[in-house]
Amino acid sequence: VHLGLPDAVGACLFDLDGVLTETAKVHDAAWKQVFDEILQDEASRSGVPFVPFDPVDDYDTYVDGKPRTDGVRDFLASRGIHPPDGSSDDPPSAFTIHGIGRKKNDSFVERIRTDGVEAYPGSVRYLHAVRDAGLRRIVVSSSANCHDILLAAGIDDLVEGEVDGTDVERDHLHGKPAPDTFLAGARLAGHPPAGCAVFEDALAGVQAGRAGAFGYVVGVDRIGGTHPADLTAHGADVVLRDLADLLDGGPM
Ligand SMILES: [Mg+2]
Repeated sequence: VHLGLPDAVGACLFDLDGVLTETAKVHDAAWKQVFDEILQDEASRSGVPFVPFDPVDDYDTYVDGKPRTDGVRDFLASRGIHPPDGSSDDPPSAFTIHGIGRKKNDSFVERIRTDGVEAYPGSVRYLHAVRDAGLRRIVVSSSANCHDILLAAGIDDLVEGEVDGTDVERDHLHGKPAPDTFLAGARLAGHPPAGCAVFEDALAGVQAGRAGAFGYVVGVDRIGGTHPADLTAHGADVVLRDLADLLDGGPM
């Protein structure tokens, strides 16, 4: 089977949300709920008009692919709101970076529990093809819920290892757009970065792929508009709508 990857690639490092699983929409909705509440409060206090969180542009620019606390900090800063950091055991009611992040996570987990998680059929096909070809398969996600999402989507047996939000916290890794989490994934796979392909749908993610000098960076576009061009500008070697596009007849 033709995997659409350069010959030197012996391992695939897959982002989770938006690449393997259809969870970007769930994240979007959870972020929107939490941020709009804050923006609404801010508007009624200051008298400036309420401008809601934009689940496409704001999500893409400030939140997608980053560790949760960085997403909170970067988006709110873009609106001139600067809550204190607080600490990682802050409750969801605390108006701190960590408290707001906790609130978003609670909302996300609740939605997953109620609605379940879908894996993209093309990604499942691709995971099977990569496994059959004998390449290593590692998931690299900023999500602290990575393993639960893999289980819920029924694809945990198709991957061999995970670098996730809990590793980021424990090992003090810099989140995407820094390359650290993908570099940890490459070590787990036992391949140098040049022998790894990175699969990402987020601008911060392809940027991390470029920054780590990985062998191939596959940008996955699920939203259209300017996103394909933005992925290329941020470091994708190729941009696809679906991972299955790489199988026989793919770009390489
Ligand atoms: Mg993603």
